[in-house]
Amino acid sequence: MPIDATLPYDESNVFARILRGELPCSKVYEDEHVLAFNDIRPLAPVHILVIPKGAYVSWDDFSERAQPEEIAAFVRAVGRIARDQGLVAPGYRLLANVGGHAGQEVPHLHVHIFGGRELGPMLA
Ligand code: 5GP
Repeated sequence: MPIDATLPYDESNVFARILRGELPCSKVYEDEHVLAFNDIRPLAPVHILVIPKGAYVSWDDFSERAQPEEIAAFVRAVGRIARDQGLVAPGYRLLANVGGHAGQEVPHLHVHIFGGRELGPMLA
């Protein structure tokens, strides 16, 4: 069920629980501001979720409220993970769903990194 991205942050969402250590994840990267882990239902050979550690619902929320160092860390982490995974030469795709029309399911900002095969057209 897609979320309403205008609602306040819900501390019980699944990524908040992963950040608190209440649920496991297959960690790919972590720093002071960022955690990245493999998607539990991968849609490509590489399917990584990159999330800020702060409580932000969506890209909209993050871009409005996050501190510059959080934004810099997030952007740099996405690029670093792609490089570390060997995705730059073959190519990869970034995706961030926001709200109902995009089908966002988890109300904590996440960027999907897809790679490992030809990814086809941008939208089905
Ligand atoms: P959205 O549709 O919100 O952009 O994507 C949410 C993503 O989170 C989906 O790709 C889904 O498979 C993934 N996901 C949902 N619950 C979990 C979980 O508990 N662990 C992990 N690693 N991924 C999850």
